[in-house]
Amino acid sequence: MADPVFQPLPTVPDHAALEEEILAWWEAQGTFGLLRERNRGGPRFSFFDGPVTANKTLGVHHAWGRTLKDVFQRYQALRGFDQRYQNGFDCQGLWIEVGVERGLGLNSKREIEEYGLEAFARKCRELVVASAAEITRASKRLGQWMDWGNDYFTFSDTNIEYVWRMLKKVHANDWLYLGHRSTEWCPRCGTSISQHELVGSYVDRADPSLFVRLPLRERKGESLVIWTTTPWTLPANVAAAVNPDAEYGLRANGEWVAVARYPDDKFTQRVRGSEMVGWTYEGPFDELVGAEHRVIPWDEVSLDEGTGIVHIAPGAGTEDFELAQEYGLEVLTPVDEAGRFYDEYGWLHGLSTTEAAEQIIGALEEKGRLVEAGLHEHRYPECWRCHTPLIFRIADDWFISVRDLRQQMLDANTTVEWTPEYMGKRMDDWLHNMGDWNISRRRYYGLPLPFYPCACGHLNVIGSKAELEERALGGLEQLEELRRPWIDRVPVRCEQCGEPVERVKEVGDVWLDAGIVPFSTLGWENQEWIPEGYATGAARELTKADLPDHAYWEKWFPADWVSEMREQIRLWFYSQLFMSVVLTGGAPFRRVLGYEKMLDENGREMHGSWGNTITAEDAFTRMGADVMRWQYCAQPPDRNLLFGYGPAEQIKKELLTVWNSVSFFVSYANIESFRPSWASLEPQGELKPLDRWLIERTHAFVADARDAFERYRADDVIRLYEAYVDDLSNWYIRRSRRRFWDGEEAALQTLWYALVQTLRVLSPVMPFLTEHLWRNLVPDGPESVHLAPWPEVEAPDRALLDEIADARRVVTLAHQARSAAGLKLRQPLRRLVVEGASGARAHADEIADEVRVKEVVFDTVDAELRVKPNLPALGPRLGKELRTVQQALQAGEFEELGDGRFRAAGYELEPGEVLVERGGREGWAVAAAEGVTVALDTTLDDELVLEGRGFDLIRLVNSMRKEQGLELTDRIVLTVPDAESELVERHGDWIKGEVLAVEIRVDGSSAVAIAKAEARE
Ligand SMILES: [Zn+2]
Ligand SMILES: [Zn+2]
Repeated sequence: MADPVFQPLPTVPDHAALEEEILAWWEAQGTFGLLRERNRGGPRFSFFDGPVTANKTLGVHHAWGRTLKDVFQRYQALRGFDQRYQNGFDCQGLWIEVGVERGLGLNSKREIEEYGLEAFARKCRELVVASAAEITRASKRLGQWMDWGNDYFTFSDTNIEYVWRMLKKVHANDWLYLGHRSTEWCPRCGTSISQHELVGSYVDRADPSLFVRLPLRERKGESLVIWTTTPWTLPANVAAAVNPDAEYGLRANGEWVAVARYPDDKFTQRVRGSEMVGWTYEGPFDELVGAEHRVIPWDEVSLDEGTGIVHIAPGAGTEDFELAQEYGLEVLTPVDEAGRFYDEYGWLHGLSTTEAAEQIIGALEEKGRLVEAGLHEHRYPECWRCHTPLIFRIADDWFISVRDLRQQMLDANTTVEWTPEYMGKRMDDWLHNMGDWNISRRRYYGLPLPFYPCACGHLNVIGSKAELEERALGGLEQLEELRRPWIDRVPVRCEQCGEPVERVKEVGDVWLDAGIVPFSTLGWENQEWIPEGYATGAARELTKADLPDHAYWEKWFPADWVSEMREQIRLWFYSQLFMSVVLTGGAPFRRVLGYEKMLDENGREMHGSWGNTITAEDAFTRMGADVMRWQYCAQPPDRNLLFGYGPAEQIKKELLTVWNSVSFFVSYANIESFRPSWASLEPQGELKPLDRWLIERTHAFVADARDAFERYRADDVIRLYEAYVDDLSNWYIRRSRRRFWDGEEAALQTLWYALVQTLRVLSPVMPFLTEHLWRNLVPDGPESVHLAPWPEVEAPDRALLDEIADARRVVTLAHQARSAAGLKLRQPLRRLVVEGASGARAHADEIADEVRVKEVVFDTVDAELRVKPNLPALGPRLGKELRTVQQALQAGEFEELGDGRFRAAGYELEPGEVLVERGGREGWAVAAAEGVTVALDTTLDDELVLEGRGFDLIRLVNSMRKEQGLELTDRIVLTVPDAESELVERHGDWIKGEVLAVEIRVDGSSAVAIAKAEARE
């Protein structure tokens, strides 16, 4: 026998081994390069990669996003689109700094400065270099095709210069200002934190809950009672706020509180809040700081918690600070950058805010000011980087005003198509509510803000490195990178008064770095294309990325598509949109795919300390990249992904269906030495109706999958595939087994076509497995499935497909009825009656064969109908009316409307809103769903029983053939006991045909036996 055309497949794929082999083969063949070359100059598909922070190895949650990016880029490549494939790394900011601090055992800004800023900067770069290499390696292993080696790094001088340029424009528009306000502050990191960085940083915490008495100066023996959960702010108290419209009362013990908070109390006196305004009181710690204390009105005072009188410390709260502006209150700032009390706070000096809490509670108690102390559970923000609870501090920070930008950004967002849609609304909500952008951080390894405020009052803003060099008064020779500490040693001349000025010490919010990417990587306003022009500053020798020219930017901006997880709405999507609106007035992307969170398979957050995190490395080894990718793709983007090995095992099982289908094809194709031809892919000639159906079904699958890819819904692609492969395997192959045995060319041709098209459609999702099977199945086509273009197919014949879908529905219901009646599938029956599913009429013979009945009749089914409400579906729609409908259904007072719809108590009920049961009459088994009812005649006679034994015997012999390792083509001699003589007499020829027996012997033996027959001549 000649070498087989197709390699036989093992029983199950070894995903990890197969993937390593394909990776090596791609590398050797230069497959990705060939693909890019083929699409070069074609229509463009522009994608911007949101930079991954280069401070760690690749996690399975990163692999989710990377998979989606790869899937849709691969799909667009199949369709012939030219693409950039530029990967990005985020390289500055707290992410990097905190990691390096931990590595070096540093725990404060003072320690960093002692360590030395040059050395610290180099350590930060080292972390980025190591992490970028690791992320690149793991991303390749995932199968992600990017232009590795030409990545962008946000710490390059080029990227920094682009942000400078944007800031200069912001300043020219008069949107830049130095704000003096109360802001969220991380005492460990020693910096303010901006509004968008608070996303997802609220945690459940128990904090002290204090009720404190503040004696009124003009009303002897009377006090206000306030409530606070931040004891450390009490020394900064200057006011107590009341709701001017609320009623306040004096309790018998001399305490003033809101009446609504103490409904059971008897009050000796009652006043409106507005009448209390102006009362003065003794502060909680007047011995530490002298300040005036008085009652002020505030509409926002809540009567839902506390006492209805709110403690105001303008130096330690945003709203407090705003009230101070309004009422001219003194602003006391009790703690320094590290969150420790200043020396003038006496016995509190040097204590942290948490250390101080205990001392403060003790002191209040001693002074008889403490009414009550306990614990209070609430959501409280912590630093997103180091998890230290945030405090409020007054700080001078640089802000970009959003006053003129808000509406422009909202308008720009209307041009963006969001998937899922609600994420676009979240963006709108954010844009409506966003405050001015706090862009400054008091840190080290970040974009140096190019601000040089002069004593003459002029703010110098440098817009490029060239401008810096031109205006520098020295220090250029040591300027290794546009970065601290080097840049701090370059003073410039004030453009107003000519005096030397120094840069502010602050660095920029890291989202500036990432938001500028649509400009900095595409060469916006760059005159001349600069080879390797992105490899500047810290990025030198890390990338070969060019800095393109403006014409290139015009071609690739805006992005056709970007994709990141939901939290990026307020982060990268926002910062990109912000900067794009500043520079161009429009949005930087046309379409966004967002997705929700990843949890473990039991729905818990993944945490190192809980032992439920999965590293990408483990997942590659234990699941394989294709199975990971499948898990990511199958996830609807509007729900959290429960990722784990359990779901992976399910997916592996599911993938066996296509694997087994290919294996089945290979077996029979090899027997027939079938040689397919890529040139005539679509089957022609003598086709059976079933073949025509599979071809149409394949057309529909390709068309529907394309539509799903176009909508960026990989989960729909997977669902379509699942339905398709079920039709392929459980209808086409099952119904065609005999033809494969007979080596029918049309069947082999049709199955081959279907499998080849399936691989092409699935190749973006599972690049390895599809490639592996492709190389086996398509000997004379494109060498890689990724180089075969997306299949072009004719519009499918949907009418024919509906007919078979109806027939399959009938078969499924008949199987249900049979199993409910306890009759095994091998037992033939007389009759099946079908009501509904009119499309199935033309396929009565196939149904009879599948269901193993002698006759299929289309008629009304005489059965008792029971209809119940499907509560989860119907409850929300009907509300209270549900009971009425339920009672009507129960009493049988309903009308059947056809197609599974009913009317009861005046309501029309859809098929999904009701549960339908049909009870058969004696001797019949009934099943119904979606408007189709079937009834199976369950009466057995001798004839049927004998035939059933025939099916039993065939099954037994075929399993014996397998156990004995016989080839599919081997003929056998079958021996059966005497008891089966009637069966052999009546059905011998049928049985011989089914088990490839040349002879059946009935020779008195006690068991069934088989022996391989001599080969035929
Ligand atoms: Zn921090
Ligand atoms: Zn000046």
